[in-house]
Amino acid sequence: MNPFPYSNDNKRYKSLAYENGLQGIKAYKAVIDAGFTCPNIDGTKGIGGCIYCDGGSGYFTAPPTIPIQKQLANELDRIRKKFPEAQAIAYFQAHSNTYAPLTELRSAFEAALLQEGVCGLSIATRADCLLPESLEYLSELNTRTRLTVELGLQTSFDETAVIINRGHSFAEFTEGYNALKERGIRVTVHIINGLPGESVEMMVETARILGQLRPDGVKIHLLHVILGTKLCDIYERGEYLPMSLEAYVDTVVRQLEVLPPETTIERLTGDGERETLRAPLWSRDKIRVLGTIDKLLVDKNTWQGRLF
Ligand code: SF4
Repeated sequence: MNPFPYSNDNKRYKSLAYENGLQGIKAYKAVIDAGFTCPNIDGTKGIGGCIYCDGGSGYFTAPPTIPIQKQLANELDRIRKKFPEAQAIAYFQAHSNTYAPLTELRSAFEAALLQEGVCGLSIATRADCLLPESLEYLSELNTRTRLTVELGLQTSFDETAVIINRGHSFAEFTEGYNALKERGIRVTVHIINGLPGESVEMMVETARILGQLRPDGVKIHLLHVILGTKLCDIYERGEYLPMSLEAYVDTVVRQLEVLPPETTIERLTGDGERETLRAPLWSRDKIRVLGTIDKLLVDKNTWQGRLF
């Protein structure tokens, strides 16, 4: 018998499918690129971005020259080929989607909400890109739609943040995170395993510290070496060793143990672009990765939140 309470299948963690099922939602992410940039790219905080950034973390996005409603209509067509009744959460994924004047934010998010079939917004951004007027607007949006703000933390260690050129500190992250939570906004936090210089203990510690903040959702990623990035240069010089499948799976299981049981685990491995992924190539087999995580949870007889 599965000892984990927030599951109605074999998963020993609280999946997004489970959370959506509880709320009777049949919604899928429609990924869009609104053409925003990032303070870590345009010179405000840094130039060139995080060392693994391939131009905005928007792996599946259409070019931003296509109007938002057209991008959403295309995404809905794609989703409804498989799930005819589905609705969409407009997922502003590329770059930092609160890094623009309020008028531009309004124009992008209101356009998405006007599109037929859109039942919510998911807005990916950095915690240091939340101006008071943007927070006020997000707060108001939160009363009108199902809103999630997704924040990239990656690691709680500031020394690693310097290595990866994240361009903001953990203290700045918590300030932005708290500002969203104080307004009752659902927040999902991204972390990345396999960052240069990090031990498994550090990765588990990031999950433990994040767990204390009680995020609504967590996305756990594997660091991908993508062609054309600074990380790829480091890798080619033999100065970065990607994680093995075994180490990754073991780390994820330990992270799940220290996260709160009621936090929704929205992702357990990343989706890199197959053509540009340089390493680790085992990560292309996502079904194998997820199956190996499920198996290790059973073999160790453990589950999300067991050590929280
Ligand atoms: S915060 Fe995101 S978009 Fe900005 S440089 Fe880093 S990975 Fe790229």
